[in-house]
Amino acid sequence: MATKAGSDISDEELREVARIEGIDYEYLRRGIATGRIVVARNSRRHRVKLVAIGEGLRTKVNVNVGTSGTVVNPELEVEKVRVAVKYGTDTIMDLSTGGNLDEVRRRLMDVSEGTPFGTVPTYQAWIEGVAKFGGTNIPSDWFIQVVERHLRDGVDFMTIHAGITRELAVKALRSERIAPIVSRGGSMLAVWMIENNDENPYLKHWDYLLELFREYGAVISLGDALRPGATADAHDDLQIGELVNNSRLARDAVAKGVQVMIEGPGHMTLDKVVADVKLMKSLSGGVPYYVLGPLVTDIALGYDHIAAAIGAAIAAAAGADIICYLTPSEHLGLPSVEQVKEGLIAAKIAAHAGDLVKLGKRAAREDVEVSIRRAMLDWDYQISRSYDPERALRIRTQFQQSISSCTMCGQFCVFLLLPRYMKDRKPEVDKLLNRYGEGCELRW
Ligand code: SF4
Repeated sequence: MATKAGSDISDEELREVARIEGIDYEYLRRGIATGRIVVARNSRRHRVKLVAIGEGLRTKVNVNVGTSGTVVNPELEVEKVRVAVKYGTDTIMDLSTGGNLDEVRRRLMDVSEGTPFGTVPTYQAWIEGVAKFGGTNIPSDWFIQVVERHLRDGVDFMTIHAGITRELAVKALRSERIAPIVSRGGSMLAVWMIENNDENPYLKHWDYLLELFREYGAVISLGDALRPGATADAHDDLQIGELVNNSRLARDAVAKGVQVMIEGPGHMTLDKVVADVKLMKSLSGGVPYYVLGPLVTDIALGYDHIAAAIGAAIAAAAGADIICYLTPSEHLGLPSVEQVKEGLIAAKIAAHAGDLVKLGKRAAREDVEVSIRRAMLDWDYQISRSYDPERALRIRTQFQQSISSCTMCGQFCVFLLLPRYMKDRKPEVDKLLNRYGEGCELRW
């Protein structure tokens, strides 16, 4: 049907997505047709949750899981997927680099309960390619063969590092940057391009890649191999150079009916975040922006999920469409299951905070209702609507409490003193929602 750029979503499914998002069907249809919205679903994969990502929609959140070269415990990663699904991630990515990568990927997909599933095929191409061909002497089409393997398995979206050219890689390594390249996939490709004196394999085979992704209806997520890995490196010519390349590729993909989004930084100070989102949207023609953080400081070790959530909230408010979570273990080690949960909830809070600005009253009903119930000291309601009800209840009951307020102010609670003078706000939710305005402008 003519409603889409690459996605094989049916008209009925499209109406369902519109209902879930609370938007007009025609708006959604045009968004997909123009590349401003993607639906992350491989046509080979059945019973996948319908998750649309893009302009005018709720900001989505992604959780990364996966084995590492030194901690190969697929069952631990399975637990992380289960926790991510339980606490409401929108998508999951497998970043495994240890063990049998095909088996790990298929196992994690199996337990993802239909959550849209992404991968970074560069890792497997590099790891298996080095073993198979000896050193870095990997043929360029091997990188594409691995992509095809992931597509056949039903992977819904993939990071494709096509924006880093050989010239940019060499320039980065000779630059004054604090951290020239911090992307794993980017560093693998940089070594391959320099060792083989050849151009990026994904660029060389770009047209064939487009054919593949169109055939499977899957989403290309153009990787940011040159994202700044230190706030001092943000918005330099390397980051912007890659963004220009990715934007050109994204426009080409949309023109050829392939679903595409672009990945973004990285580390950058607060004042650069809004400009970053606006620049990306302007250069790319408005394809979805998938941001990692951004982390707004480099010194939050152990709390990088908070540093990232601050940047992510601003990015979401400015128009970023999907946030990749960070965990407290970022820059320190592989996350535990509990750290996955913490990182996901931090990212969900950031996404929602952004949506209160970006979507206005469409995102605010829960906030208004919880606030009304807060003034009524309705603890059951508040706790039931929290991101982690068990944690909220644990904190609520950590000291002995004999009255209906909480232990912060006890008997001097404002909501014990004032209710008899207050009017009932429960019937006024719709009126109160108007204070949030209409939300983002529709540009089509
Ligand atoms: S006791 Fe204080 S903190 Fe607790 S609900 Fe009442 S006003 Fe809020």
